[in-house]
Amino acid sequence: MAMDSGVLDELVVIDPESTATYAHLFQGLADPTRLAILQHLASGEHRVRDLVDHLGFAQSTVSKHLSFLLECRLVVVRPAGRSSWYSLAEPVRLGALIAAAEALLQATGTRAELGAHLRRHRDAASTGVATG
Ligand SMILES: [Zn+2]
Repeated sequence: MAMDSGVLDELVVIDPESTATYAHLFQGLADPTRLAILQHLASGEHRVRDLVDHLGFAQSTVSKHLSFLLECRLVVVRPAGRSSWYSLAEPVRLGALIAAAEALLQATGTRAELGAHLRRHRDAASTGVATG
């Protein structure tokens, strides 16, 4: 396929499949309830009923958002007897992503930080970088 202009060259670089994959990942992070669940799971494995107790959300809310997080592969589930235990799929990498978001927020004039647990994972990911 011949490329006639530089503009076209730049347009064909966009890969719709990859773009959709990124969008789906960010969709997993694009909800305050899901972010709260992710922050809480950074403290360790939980069952649905634990998350209901610890976060104060309705069970249907927790279940709905956990399925979405599983679908985005941000969370994994471990069956044990009649219980299912949920945890972060990649706590260190998620911490690094949150750290990048935090840096972007700061650079664009908003100061915000997510929970201490995710910060701890973030610090593990970015060794040697001082945080303030
Ligand atoms: Zn808890």
